Amino acid sequence: MNYEPLRESMVENQLRRRGIKDELVLKVMKKVPRHEFVPEEHKERAYGDFPVPIGYGQTVSQPYVVAAMTEALRLKGNEKVLEVGAGSGYQAAILAEIAKKVYTVELIHKLVEKSRKILKKLGYTNVKVVEGNGEGGFKEGFPYDGILITAACHKIPEQLQEQLNEGGRIVVPIGDRAFQELFVFTKKKGDFERAFLFDCRFVPLVGESGWDY
Ligand code: SAH
Repeated sequence: MNYEPLRESMVENQLRRRGIKDELVLKVMKKVPRHEFVPEEHKERAYGDFPVPIGYGQTVSQPYVVAAMTEALRLKGNEKVLEVGAGSGYQAAILAEIAKKVYTVELIHKLVEKSRKILKKLGYTNVKVVEGNGEGGFKEGFPYDGILITAACHKIPEQLQEQLNEGGRIVVPIGDRAFQELFVFTKKKGDFERAFLFDCRFVPLVGESGWDY
């Protein structure tokens, strides 16, 4: 199966037409083989306009959401980025195509193993998949220029605020377990300036800033 036409059409119809403007983001979304990150039985649906199940009750976000979150970080290429919720590793690959170094934290052991394997197979040497609770961030890469939280929170995890550089951005879905709003917070003189992106539905973050179950 040739996935390239599907990827092209995804970029034109789902991303560009809906207002994603950052050419760098559009370029890498056209390049990264999203189907490689989803289970065999979902490969043919990988480029659809919806989230795709990746097992263990988790999903990889809809392509538009991945693109919009990446665009909101305004990366130029020299940044260190932290992702909370590696899942399939797809979002991390998109970030790694643009940023200098990506750290991505994941709680579920099997997803850690799987995402490491696929990122390695595709040749990403600037991504580190870390196993654990991402709420505390990851000290090795501190401080970060950008942070993406790809699971729903009811507040921004405090330690992540501290691990962000001046001028850095955190993109995070905030709300209740069922519905959230996606925000981008920009750190300015220790304070946070908030901008609303759109309504969204993410799987819940497990932990203090999310929900325990
Ligand atoms: N960004 C992923 C999709 C994320 S789904 C991708 O591109 O595929 C959300 C992920 O967050 C799930 O894999 C879930 O296990 C993980 N997660 C939930 N709470 C977490 C926490 N506290 N720390 C790290 N990962 C967490």
